[in-house]
Amino acid sequence: MMELKSGQKDLTKTSPIEIKNLSVTYRTEPALWNIDLNFPEGKMIAIVGPNGAGKSTLIKAIMGLVPITAGKVSVYGKPYSSQRRKVAYVPQRGSVDWDFPTDALDVVEMGLYGRLGWLRRPNSQTRDKARECLAKVGLEEYTDRQIGQLSGGQQQRVFVARALAQDPQIYLMDEPLNGVDAITEETILSILEDLRKEGNTIVMVHHDLQTVDKYFDWVVMLNRNLVGSGPIKEVFTKDNLDKTYREKQRVSLG
Ligand code: ADP
Ligand code: MG
Repeated sequence: MMELKSGQKDLTKTSPIEIKNLSVTYRTEPALWNIDLNFPEGKMIAIVGPNGAGKSTLIKAIMGLVPITAGKVSVYGKPYSSQRRKVAYVPQRGSVDWDFPTDALDVVEMGLYGRLGWLRRPNSQTRDKARECLAKVGLEEYTDRQIGQLSGGQQQRVFVARALAQDPQIYLMDEPLNGVDAITEETILSILEDLRKEGNTIVMVHHDLQTVDKYFDWVVMLNRNLVGSGPIKEVFTKDNLDKTYREKQRVSLG
């Protein structure tokens, strides 16, 4: 493949995330069944579906955090393992141990360790970067605060700052707006809007169906099976909502 000159756009347009025939089974029942997806670049993408639909599992499967039973995931045409630096993950808030004795600045800085190459120790450069990203999410006054003492919204913003510091092209976020205050929601959305304008791809598990058409370009509707994926206007339909939320989805084993 030809090297791209800096500033030159990649015209081959590989999908940021391509998922083929993906199934994930934790015990006996599949959590995801035969999912085919192509995420478009530079869009705000919502993943919606009821509790237990496999939304978090899908995000984790992209990063190899859960064992894949069948299928394949590619990030810009390659396995995730060789593309880690292009992807940042904001986990669901409930899955994080907030009693862990560490302050906001450390949480952001720790997100950079894997990316430092031979110089694995934090240094003044990573510290500055972490401070700058905390300022972007409005937490410049809270750098030394223990994470357990921050409000839910502030904790969420710390994790957004951590993702920003990693300077990825793809943001995978698991319900970052769930249960946060209005300031946090506005701050996160305005940051994401800027990132999208710069061509980044944002994939977000989203619980609030009322705001899907307002915030997102694209929707993935999931209930173990894929119900639909595409532009909001085409896919976020009453029919698909019924299929996603009301009808009990049967996993076809045929
Ligand atoms: P969602 O995020 O849409 O609520 P999840 O992806 O968390 O759904 O879970 C999908 C299904 O997989 C659920 O039935 C859940 O109980 C099950 N599940 C999720 N994680 C695990 C796990 N680590 N071990 C066993 N079952 C799991
Ligand atoms: Mg979930």
